[in-house]
Amino acid sequence: MRQCVNIYWNRGIYVEGRRARFVVDPVGPVEGPVDFVLVTHGHSDHVSRYMFKHLVVATAETFKAIEVKFGGVPPRRLVTAPGRVFEVGGVEVAVFDAGHIVGSVMYLVELDGVQILITGDYSVYGSILTDGAEPVEKPDILITEATYGDPAYVFPNKADVYNELLDLVERHAGERGVAIAAYPLGKAQEVSALLGSRAKAHPLVARYNRALGIRSGTDGDVVVVPSLKAAPPGFVKVEATGWYSDEEYRRRSAERGIYGVPLSDHSDYVGLIEFVNASAPKLVYTVYGFSERLARSLRRLGHRAYTIPGAAGLSRFLK
Ligand SMILES: [Zn+2]
Repeated sequence: MRQCVNIYWNRGIYVEGRRARFVVDPVGPVEGPVDFVLVTHGHSDHVSRYMFKHLVVATAETFKAIEVKFGGVPPRRLVTAPGRVFEVGGVEVAVFDAGHIVGSVMYLVELDGVQILITGDYSVYGSILTDGAEPVEKPDILITEATYGDPAYVFPNKADVYNELLDLVERHAGERGVAIAAYPLGKAQEVSALLGSRAKAHPLVARYNRALGIRSGTDGDVVVVPSLKAAPPGFVKVEATGWYSDEEYRRRSAERGIYGVPLSDHSDYVGLIEFVNASAPKLVYTVYGFSERLARSLRRLGHRAYTIPGAAGLSRFLK
């Protein structure tokens, strides 16, 4: 018998088959009945209060991040971890490290005989806190993020980026103090772990650090802040984000007195392409960021790749 699943995007990735219907990382009201919700990680564009009404599957670290963010956790939870395989609502689920932030995972699900890998955000390079994401071979469908899915975004080696950040701190900490802006969940833990006792944490960063078991220092002249707006007056401003791999963007920020450091917890364009090539899926859907651009590049390489369809354009995968 031919098997069929439907996959579409409506402020979350919906997957529906004969045996089950579920949504991954919903950020809007959950549409229709779902058997469960899968959450890949705790970033704001992947979690919402809407999921609290449902059975939520996530890692312990992601639930901790949800608790810091929302002041509570969904009452019905299934706590998982990389390496686990389990069944929920008639669906077999295997969990893999996504290498993006602490506790981030990818899910390989099997629904009605169709294997679907849902990456969430991922980094093939990993970090001081995470191992890089490994390709999962030959799923029927790969749903990949495309945040940096444009050829303009090729990251420097991570060790070089870490050294650049450490050099900036060494050069400027003694004179004026250094404020390093890093997204409070994920990047801020990476920067805090890199600088160790050398850097103290802004209160919001400190809450995430504490919840995730990352130590911060107490020195006054280096501080990890959630955004440059929170930098203490007079401190040298450093901002850590992958967008600084664009030299023009970096130059414009330098003109405003900001040191841009191209530190990313995603895969760059090259990493995304390599991950898809090594996975060799039958069908690829791209989602988030440069999804159209990445899908086009993948088609040129011979993949059957498209931007994930919206609710209006239900996509059917037949096996
Ligand atoms: Zn993310």
